[in-house]
Amino acid sequence: MEQARQMLQHHFGYESFRQGQTQIIEQTLQGQSSLCVMPTGGGKSICYQIPALMLEGLTIVISPLISLMQDQVEALRAANIPAAYINSTLTAQEVDETMQLASAGYLKLLYIAPERLESVSFLQALSYLSVPLIAVDEAHCISHWGHDFRPSYRSIQKLFTLWPQKPTVLALTATATPAVCDDIRHLLTIDEQATVMTGFSRENLALSVLIGENKERYIKNYLQKNKQEVGIIYAATRKAVDAIYDTLTRSGEAVAKYHAGLSEDLRMTEQERFLKDEARIMVATNAFGMGIDKSNVRFVLHYQMPRNMESYYQEAGRAGRDGLPSACILLYASGDVQTQRFLIEQTLDEARISQELAKLQTMVDYCHTEGCLQNAILSYFGEVQEEPCGRCSNCNDGRTVTDVTEDAQKVLACVVRMGQKFGKTMVAQVLIGSKNQKIAEFGFARLSTYGILKGKYASKDVSNFIEFLIAEGLLAVKHGTFPTIYVSADGKEVLLGNRQVTRKEAVTVRKLVDNDPLFEHLRVLRKEIADEEKVPPFVVFSDKTLRDLCDKKPAVLEDLRQVSGIGEVKFDKYGKRFFDALQSFLEGSV
Ligand code: ADP
Ligand code: MG
Ligand code: ZN
Repeated sequence: MEQARQMLQHHFGYESFRQGQTQIIEQTLQGQSSLCVMPTGGGKSICYQIPALMLEGLTIVISPLISLMQDQVEALRAANIPAAYINSTLTAQEVDETMQLASAGYLKLLYIAPERLESVSFLQALSYLSVPLIAVDEAHCISHWGHDFRPSYRSIQKLFTLWPQKPTVLALTATATPAVCDDIRHLLTIDEQATVMTGFSRENLALSVLIGENKERYIKNYLQKNKQEVGIIYAATRKAVDAIYDTLTRSGEAVAKYHAGLSEDLRMTEQERFLKDEARIMVATNAFGMGIDKSNVRFVLHYQMPRNMESYYQEAGRAGRDGLPSACILLYASGDVQTQRFLIEQTLDEARISQELAKLQTMVDYCHTEGCLQNAILSYFGEVQEEPCGRCSNCNDGRTVTDVTEDAQKVLACVVRMGQKFGKTMVAQVLIGSKNQKIAEFGFARLSTYGILKGKYASKDVSNFIEFLIAEGLLAVKHGTFPTIYVSADGKEVLLGNRQVTRKEAVTVRKLVDNDPLFEHLRVLRKEIADEEKVPPFVVFSDKTLRDLCDKKPAVLEDLRQVSGIGEVKFDKYGKRFFDALQSFLEGSV
């Protein structure tokens, strides 16, 4: 293991292995096939990259997305590790050249998409190589029970009989329920004892669920308050993605978008803009993100709730891979449950619908739990509860709760009196007693609820309150040319006095990190170098490395080696430039 640790320091600039990495690497070097379940950002890649360097021959890495192999390979090359990928973006000649490099022993890692394994000629070419290890990334894709089933993952089994001896298999995933783990082990013939789980808890993530927020305004405030930070906004539908993208673009944000309705080309360029920090916000459906290793994502905002906990934790987990404090915020509205239910009923076959609806319900329960959110997720994945995390919105909820039952009844009654045929704005105007001509025309000034909230609320606050009642599921929206609102079954209970309504004061939008001019200065240099080398900035150095540089402020060039993420390789490549930038900043010459 000492040799493994030296390689970690030399290529990656890290002092020691993390929890779980040591055991996986030992097992793998001993030829034991293993299943590694570690949260996103836990450091799974190193579990196969270090053995690949140490084992004789070529390690094959099965990776689900061709569009990202290039980034992974670039990151390895930046650390002086000979790696390549083969996918459909290469010409036949390029594939040949890569295979020749591989057979001449020039490569240590070869990334391929599972679909490649459906080609007989490719398998034949592989059979001439010496392959000690097969790493299966995102291994949950092999399971029917998982949420990302990929039939071609089953072709991995063909590799087991390709050589006289079955290579060692290392399956890696971040999201696997016990049933999915069983499936992976069974399909990839891995012993149950060879499973290494490090726990799903992510110490650097602060989870929040916000109910009844005005989403658009919340997002704008959030982006305003966290101007420098990179983040992802997930929405449930393409339409919602387009709408958020348009709004944010209009307000001058550098945004990218991604969903299955965009052309392959456009998706690629948008992804690229985000990876390269040219767009700081990515607005996307769940089509975006698998295999993305961008380490400096500081927040993941869910504009709409996803359809199950696996998806949620995987998407949210894309924040803070570098281990720095990051936020995962879910904006809940009851209408989004209908959207997800609709999507499930429209897109799945009979057999899976009830299973998926049950999963959706777990997600809804999560949004309404009053206990620690991190613990709620852990227990979903079958992990014993620890102490409350102390970081999530429930652990930190010091907001006051007010009983608003009476005002809710006034609003609901007003909606009923207006015949449940109007939109929010009209209702709000009646409630504050507006002199608007339309209101006079409809005779609403004669209603007993006309002006009933006048003086108590400003007109904007009445609209917010109506939004809140919609989010709580007491009012529902009927979509049409003009969306109208009506009282839901739960709302009727409130009108009958059978149900109370409480509201928490609005959350304050938090700033993630304090501005550090030195950090910004180094960030600019990082972007400059990344552009020269045509790689994403996080391939040069992670945010964590830049932060550590800011903290340690090495006084001599040699001391740069003490910084997390600066090993021999990167020291030689970038050490001098970052050191100079640091010194000139400290001397005040920039
Ligand atoms: P995963 O695939 O599990 O989501 P990655 O392999 O992408 O995670 O690793 C996440 C981050 O953690 C990367 O920036 C990686 O360089 C870093 N990392 C991995 N192992 C270590 C370690 N032993 N010490 C410090 N940082 C590490
Ligand atoms: Mg990974
Ligand atoms: Zn908590």
